[in-house]
Amino acid sequence: MMNCFLKEKKEIAEGTVLFTFDVPDAGLSYVPGQYVCLKLDLRFPDEKGPKRYFSIVNSPEKHGRIEIATRVSDTGFKQTLDALQPGDAGEITEIGGKFVLPEDAALEMVMVAGGVGVTPFKCMLDHLIRAGENRRVTLLYSNKNKATTAFYEDFLRLEASGCPEKVFFVMTRDDAWPGPKGRLNADFIRENIPGFQSKQFMVAGPPNFVGGITKALEELEISNVRLEKFFGY
Ligand SMILES: Cc1cc2nc3c(=O)[nH]c(=O)nc-3n(C[C@H](O)[C@H](O)[C@H](O)COP(=O)(O)OP(=O)(O)OC[C@H]3O[C@@H](n4cnc5c(N)ncnc54)[C@H](O)[C@@H]3O)c2cc1C
Repeated sequence: MMNCFLKEKKEIAEGTVLFTFDVPDAGLSYVPGQYVCLKLDLRFPDEKGPKRYFSIVNSPEKHGRIEIATRVSDTGFKQTLDALQPGDAGEITEIGGKFVLPEDAALEMVMVAGGVGVTPFKCMLDHLIRAGENRRVTLLYSNKNKATTAFYEDFLRLEASGCPEKVFFVMTRDDAWPGPKGRLNADFIRENIPGFQSKQFMVAGPPNFVGGITKALEELEISNVRLEKFFGY
């Protein structure tokens, strides 16, 4: 168990808030892609209890800190989280997960994110840039519309730095969006990802999203797949 203290919170897209916690414990250690279990003293009742899992947003190079991003809803936990003021405490009861970068740095990767499921990829990509690691990555990032797309500018900046090599922002309900629209599916991957069958796919998001992409990848006979389901959504 480690104590954490809210440093700041910031709305990064419509309905999505980034919470930054200071973690003074010298034992804080994780690999990009892993999650924390955050426990709060509930100020509002919540039938699912005082804990939730969140993928870590910030790369480990930002020492002594944990950032998480979530859609703020009306559950007691989310309302408690949103009511925290700078200096207020929470507990990190667990850090773990196997959804991490493949050991083979030469493997070309396709990251596929549904909404807030982009959090572990933000961490991995920031880490690759900061560590100067050269990997070939494409990011497919699905959202309802541009306004709800978290880290939009950050991913453009990362793309300009070369990792990912290419970001496809795909909107399911945004008539004004000039780029790709509709659901991410097998056709989209076939048309936009040359050599897809030999690439390592990593998929993260709400269980429904991950289930849909899994079917598309099966249809395309892609076998090199890692999944992170955000259970609870
Ligand atoms: C390994 C792991 C990592 C996770 N990482 C994150 C993370 O980085 N950020 C994060 O926000 N959550 C993450 N989660 C999920 C998180 O733990 C919560 O379960 C989730 O945020 C729901 O919170 P809530 O129970 O307070 O309910 P709410 O936020 O109210 O969501 C629950 C209900 O709201 C509806 N709903 C709201 N938004 C959606 C949506 N986008 N898609 C589908 N249904 C929706 C559904 O009806 C759902 O049952 C992760 C879960 C796991 C297991």
